[in-house]
Parts: sequence; structure tokens; C-alpha cells
Amino acid sequence: MAKEWARPFYRSKAWQQCRIAYIASVYGLCETCAEKGIDKPGKILHHTILLTPFNINDPDVTLNWNYLRYECKECHDKNEGHGVAVRVEATRDGLMFDDSGQLVEINNVNG
Ligand SMILES: [Zn+2]
Ligand SMILES: [Zn+2]
Repeated sequence: MAKEWARPFYRSKAWQQCRIAYIASVYGLCETCAEKGIDKPGKILHHTILLTPFNINDPDVTLNWNYLRYECKECHDKNEGHGVAVRVEATRDGLMFDDSGQLVEINNVNG
């Protein structure tokens, strides 16, 4: 489920419109299955970049199609690597926000 700080974003009109347009662009099909030649309806529009309280209000990140991937539930659950594709910028001094929005030292974060 969306984090508390992410909820206003997921409710925003900009995201809803982005979501509809993106899903239409992939014909509503799971992109991972499609790469294997399988036509399967997608279910989850996944950000391949880790969303944090730091970037959630940056449309270049949150609404950027380069960071979106539409997947069926099975593929998404298999692939749950939020933020793996694009490394999160350090905020400063080797600190970053982790998945729950806590500031942590980068050395302490796996992957
Ligand atoms: Zn799939
Ligand atoms: Zn995801």
C-alpha cells in the first residue's frame, strides 16, 4: 500500500491522467509478459525508481514514463525491486531516504 506521504500523489489528477495514458500506450498488457510473447492484462503500474518524500513532488520523476512499467500481479511480485533500476541520489553526506521514508546511511541499504 502507498505510504502516508505518497497518498496525495496517488490521488492527484496528474497521476491519474499519466497512469491512464501510460497503460493505454502498452495496450493494457503486462510489459514483462509481453516480452515473453504472452498477452496478459497488466494490473500494477510500477515505478522503477524508488519514490521517496524527497522526489514524490517531482513530476520529472513521478510522471516520467521512463520510470514506469506496467505489469501483471505475478510479474510485479516477482520483481519487487523498487528503486533498483535507478539509484536514488544521496541527499547529502551519504544519507538517503529508504523505502519507508526514513533517512539512513547509504552503506546500510542493500542493493
Ligand atoms: Zn506479467
Ligand atoms: Zn512496484
